[in-house]
Amino acid sequence: MGSQDETITLRVEGMDCANEVALIEKKMKGLEGIASWRPDLMTQQLTVIFAPAAVKREAIIKAIEQTGMKASVVLDRASQQSVPWWKQAQMVCLAACGLLFAVAFVLEKVPGTGVMPKILYAAAVAVGAYYPARMGVRALLTGVLNIRLLMVCGAAGAIALGHWEEAAMLVFIYSLGDVLEAYAVGKARRSIRALMELVPKEALLRRDGQEILAPVESVHLGDTIIVRPGEKVPLDGVVSAGGSTVDQSSITGESLPAAKGVGDQVFAGTINQRGALDVRVTHLAEDTTLARIIHSVEEAQARKSSYQRFGERFGKYYTPAMFLLAILVTVVPPVFLGQPFSPWFYRGLVLLVVSCSCGLALSVPVAVVAAVANAARHGVLYKGGASLEAAGKVRVLAFDKTGTLTLGQPVVTDLLPADSADGREVLSIAAAVESRSEHPLAEAVLRRAREENLPIRPVTDFEAMPGSGARAKIDGVSYTVGNLRLFEHLLAGGSPTAERVAALESEGKTTILVGTDGRILGIIAVADQMRSETPAAVKSLKAIGLGPIVMLTGDGERTAKAVAGLSGVDECRSGLLPEGKVQAVRELRSRFGHVAMVGDGVNDAPAMAEADVGIAMGAAGTDVAIETADIALMSDDLRRLPYALALSRRAVNNIKQNIVASLAIVAILVPTALVGWIGLVPGLLLNEISALIVILNALRLLNHKGG
Ligand code: ADP
Ligand code: MG
Repeated sequence: MGSQDETITLRVEGMDCANEVALIEKKMKGLEGIASWRPDLMTQQLTVIFAPAAVKREAIIKAIEQTGMKASVVLDRASQQSVPWWKQAQMVCLAACGLLFAVAFVLEKVPGTGVMPKILYAAAVAVGAYYPARMGVRALLTGVLNIRLLMVCGAAGAIALGHWEEAAMLVFIYSLGDVLEAYAVGKARRSIRALMELVPKEALLRRDGQEILAPVESVHLGDTIIVRPGEKVPLDGVVSAGGSTVDQSSITGESLPAAKGVGDQVFAGTINQRGALDVRVTHLAEDTTLARIIHSVEEAQARKSSYQRFGERFGKYYTPAMFLLAILVTVVPPVFLGQPFSPWFYRGLVLLVVSCSCGLALSVPVAVVAAVANAARHGVLYKGGASLEAAGKVRVLAFDKTGTLTLGQPVVTDLLPADSADGREVLSIAAAVESRSEHPLAEAVLRRAREENLPIRPVTDFEAMPGSGARAKIDGVSYTVGNLRLFEHLLAGGSPTAERVAALESEGKTTILVGTDGRILGIIAVADQMRSETPAAVKSLKAIGLGPIVMLTGDGERTAKAVAGLSGVDECRSGLLPEGKVQAVRELRSRFGHVAMVGDGVNDAPAMAEADVGIAMGAAGTDVAIETADIALMSDDLRRLPYALALSRRAVNNIKQNIVASLAIVAILVPTALVGWIGLVPGLLLNEISALIVILNALRLLNHKGG
């Protein structure tokens, strides 16, 4: 992609099925200067990256219109208005077709109406088939066989055989099916739009002492915005003045309001309740957490599950194969086997008609979007259909301890200087080294040092040792802060330090040793509280039938065992370096199958990446977690986890049901049509009903309950 390239997003009316996508692909391939394109059936949008020097926007739009579809540039995603049905030509045609059909049907029963019913049936076919025929023919001109064309051929064939009533019924049922399918798919699509409507369009900005209302897009980083009570927060930021409670359920799915004071993060789309807040903007409108959530739902189609790929591949071969089969059925028996022409021609038509199904092509993406949109409403963000699928197959769950099963807000409980050392000095050294670390334990040490009013001395040569501790120099002297592993060389032969550590750890505390290269200066013990919801969450995870729940931690064995016992996990592995966690994930996979790794992202990123599904906790506001995890839980609430995993499973089952049902219908209808047991109208009716059923089944995922 060149630097001059532009991107446009087009809404393509009529892109309803895999078949139309193939058509668009063909057109895009035929144009010069198109770098890449991405069609999305669900949102009916096409994103095109092109070189404006080589190809104009208008040319792209025109190319699409040659297929019979209608393309228009998407300006504002949120403001796409729905057009009332009587203003949609297709709907008007459908209604007219139905009406003409009904009148003809009644007239037929009245004696002496002559050719009137026939004329009315013909008119019904003409208005009903106009749009499908136009699109079908244009598709054919591009060299793509379209399902609509199959249907129009079916109707034309029925007329050729003198079955006027059947032809009209066919056209009507097909078009009605189309409209109902579009409506059902639109329901999933509207769930995305509902998310977009959460974002306020304007922000009250304070500039040069004045308050002005400005569009959110024009707000800069570092600007101060004012959020009054009862208003929605327009952009992500940090509170710089005021205090309030904020309903964050739109982001985190958490219904309890969160207290916000100076220094706290607030998110666009959440609702300020009581007090006024001054907020310093930290994210531009297109980068807010909510924008990312919306994006992830919109993009759910882009990162495809294997089912989605299957559906698309199936559609690609299925339609031409059916067309070929229909031609063979029509031609071979009369020409080579001396059979009469019209019954075989009729069977060919039935075959065409029963194979006009979008059920498979549509139900899979609808299921993915419905599930992902449902999750977004509950504060769970999926990276596309692929993550949904992987999560649905998870057999075993691995948890990081600190910050995941526990609060990750450890407090210093004991300070045990070695014989000749001074406690305050030990704490001061540890705090100085930890001042550069991002580990939750470091924070505990620093907090304690501040409480005791100890100065934090400057350090040099800081080095973090993930999973073990950290090292740095103070006034040229090298100090190490961390777990037993870092001091093994000083602990030979039953030293009192080792015993003290053992005693503290069996109470579930984590110990931090502080020392120079040659001497241990003291021990700092830290306790981290279990999250109150951890035992319940672990229990529900077991209840939905997940294999062993395993805790992976860098902490010592005794601490780990104490925490594991309280949380209810099945297994625990302790003393693991980040690489060890990766190994553990691999080993779990080879024993049980798909592994999900749940972490807070602090030095467990490698294990999360190794797992089939990496799940990040408390992701709201931490951009990295949202970017790297397959599933991000916006809140810290572990109870989202059983919800998300149950939803994923249900989605995978739902998709499987729909694939099996769609294939079964084809497997039944096609042979039935071949042997001539089914007529045109019942064939199409069964086919349309089955398509609607699978789509409606997929839509049920929108209503999956959380908690
Ligand atoms: P967990 O697996 O529980 O999240 P980590 O892998 O983050 O734990 O760390 C494992 C162990 O390494 C900690 O329990 C602690 O003993 C030690 N450690 C890691 N980083 C630090 C640090 N900055 N200061 C002190 N100790 C640390
Ligand atoms: Mg951790």
